[in-house]
Amino acid sequence: MFEALDRLITGLKTVRDVAQRMHDAELLSALADLTLDSAQLKVDTATVREENTRLREEVEQLRRQADIRSKIEIKDGMYYLTEPISGYSQGPFCTRCLDSDGKLVTLMGPGWQPGIEHGPGTFRTPDGRGYTCPECIRRRR
Ligand SMILES: [Zn+2]
Repeated sequence: MFEALDRLITGLKTVRDVAQRMHDAELLSALADLTLDSAQLKVDTATVREENTRLREEVEQLRRQADIRSKIEIKDGMYYLTEPISGYSQGPFCTRCLDSDGKLVTLMGPGWQPGIEHGPGTFRTPDGRGYTCPECIRRRR
């Protein structure tokens, strides 16, 4: 896309050189306007390209989240994978981190972290085993 714009700008310069040799002031003025417009078009194109890259990354992140959502189940208030996802354990995972931030955070435990047995980021199974979310705990401090 930029290559075509570069060729357009080069072509305009060539036409401007011809117009200068012809001493055509009206044509030179029109070409100057077109040259400015083409330069602005190049800037705008770069902006659109950056936006496109950002949106593609966002779509990819949403696809990953949707993929994760299709492979989890909730048990005892914690998420577990129903099928493997590369790079992750089977769980348990923090419900708050996935639900609010879209992040699959493996819980620490079983066993409480020193001084942290209650509040956000803590989970307790029916048989009393404690789990702690490192991300939620970090936010509490
Ligand atoms: Zn968490």
